[in-house]
Amino acid sequence: MPYTYQDVEISWLGHAAFLLKYAGKLIYIDPYKIRSKGSADMILVTHEHFDHLSPDDLRKIVKHDTDIIAPESCGSQLKGLGVGIIKLVKPGDKVRVREVDIETIPAYNLTKFRAPGIPYHPKEAGGVGYILTLDGVRVYHAGDTDFIPEMKELEVDIALVPVSGTYVMTAEEAAEAVNTFKPKVAIPMHYGSIVGSRKDAERFKELAEVEVVILERE
Ligand code: ZN
Ligand code: ZN
Repeated sequence: MPYTYQDVEISWLGHAAFLLKYAGKLIYIDPYKIRSKGSADMILVTHEHFDHLSPDDLRKIVKHDTDIIAPESCGSQLKGLGVGIIKLVKPGDKVRVREVDIETIPAYNLTKFRAPGIPYHPKEAGGVGYILTLDGVRVYHAGDTDFIPEMKELEVDIALVPVSGTYVMTAEEAAEAVNTFKPKVAIPMHYGSIVGSRKDAERFKELAEVEVVILERE
């Protein structure tokens, strides 16, 4: 079942993948191992890792005029698709696409390392989180990130936040994050596929002081 907030319908497609439906538009974020729910008007990709930028999944939903928004690190793989209109972004950008205002904020690790001193998601890699404004409703998809100082300034209605730990925030860190920037509703993600389980989502819900909605995968 999707979660509906005002006129925005939010479906969790597993892992970090979501479908937002708004005013007849289909906006996918980080499609990975999804079942298609129809052709995309817009696709947002947070960074180049295979569980976020998946050409096989993009092929399931892309059409010739789909707007694809992604960081520069994704450019060559996206051009290889041969379809879609590609817009490459950096953290801190503001763009308007199909009457949707989209802001990017950084997404990176402070405390998750693949080797001493080398984070899984270095800030310099340019990964992003997205804030979409859909007729006044602000939806934030955090991407793969720790609880970073940039989050403290966020003003959003809905926050889609990773909770699995290892490469991203743990449930405890994600709860600390939402308790700081206080979205109206938080939805946990980035579990149940590669790392993390529903237990992480439930622990997040216990610790968060804001409303938490745990979605079933669609
Ligand atoms: Zn990643
Ligand atoms: Zn990931």
